[in-house]
Amino acid sequence: MKRNELFIIEGKALRDMTEMLCRQADLAGMIRAKCGGKEALVALKPNLVGPIRAEDGATTHPEITEAVLCYLKENGFRNVVVMESSWVGDKTGESLLVTGYGELCRRMGVPFLDLQEDSGVMRDGSGMRLTICERALEADYLINLPVLKGHCQTRMTCALKNMKGCIPASEKRRFHRLGLHEPIGHLSAAIRQDFIIADAVSPDLTFEDGGNPVSLDRLICAADPVLMDAYGAAALGLSLQEVRYIEIAEECGVGCSDLSGADISYYLEKNKGGRHGYVKAEVPSLPWERDRSRSVIGLKELVEDVDSCSACYGTLIPALKRLEEEGELRRLPGKICIGQGYRGRTGEFGIGNCTAAFRHTLKGCPPSAEEMYQYLKRECGGNRS
Ligand code: SF4
Repeated sequence: MKRNELFIIEGKALRDMTEMLCRQADLAGMIRAKCGGKEALVALKPNLVGPIRAEDGATTHPEITEAVLCYLKENGFRNVVVMESSWVGDKTGESLLVTGYGELCRRMGVPFLDLQEDSGVMRDGSGMRLTICERALEADYLINLPVLKGHCQTRMTCALKNMKGCIPASEKRRFHRLGLHEPIGHLSAAIRQDFIIADAVSPDLTFEDGGNPVSLDRLICAADPVLMDAYGAAALGLSLQEVRYIEIAEECGVGCSDLSGADISYYLEKNKGGRHGYVKAEVPSLPWERDRSRSVIGLKELVEDVDSCSACYGTLIPALKRLEEEGELRRLPGKICIGQGYRGRTGEFGIGNCTAAFRHTLKGCPPSAEEMYQYLKRECGGNRS
């Protein structure tokens, strides 16, 4: 597969679709070309952000990972691992249980590396010093399996941001203090991803932790993460200016965001006598979805965010949405402060341990979704804690 190529496939048979993409790209040939023999350590990096089922729009469908593992086995690659760390606030072990990845790895006889238990080493990311999980750096060939979905802070997440699962929790917090875009843009210069299949099967187009999945039934394959994310942004109706880390990664030499120079092939599922087959078709016009929830933008206006973690912010917005649906939100007593920038500061109305010195606050790092909802509901009702 060339760096300027994108393969998109549409259908329901995820294992067949994934296998077709691996064959079409000649993934085995790409690994051999980069690493020589079949002894290369090949690492698969799905998105297991939290204990959330793939159908809910946040995590990579296990069928995709399973199909890549089967393809690698059939092509003689035996030194294969799956690796990931869930976001701050959730344990990767719980995500393995809920998503089915624990069972999948056991069945396939493939080790799972919980990067939450790994140590970090400093690496240069095109002029920015970044801490990367040591074992993630040991991979000779890294296959990234992100979910193309919305993100309440960076607008979208796909190939570039998925690598955040390869850094320790302390570095994740630092990324938030740095405003996310800059360090995410530099991250893929410090840890290289070689091949990407993005899961756009049922993504949530607003939140990274799912809950509002939209049926798109597509997988997208690329060798260049910048091109992949540029396409993903366009597909979701976002400009490059709205997802700044894409251009930052390009400036770091990670890849090219120019879709006008991309060679895009689109395949459709076709059932031939009970067997799945794929035919090349015309690329559909972008974006796929124009009805992304705009209300998230409105809800953001109620929040004063200074360097919050995704787990905290991503839980707060759905809690606000729930209150909005119940008609309670207009009684919110003021703007809610959230984020590491409030540590040690005083204020009126906050969420999470970072606002511990506020007059009204909710403890937790992060507080659970239910705790946030109940706290905000009390605040709306005038029963201030
Ligand atoms: S309380 Fe602060 S450090 Fe903890 S998750 Fe929330 S923003 Fe991050």
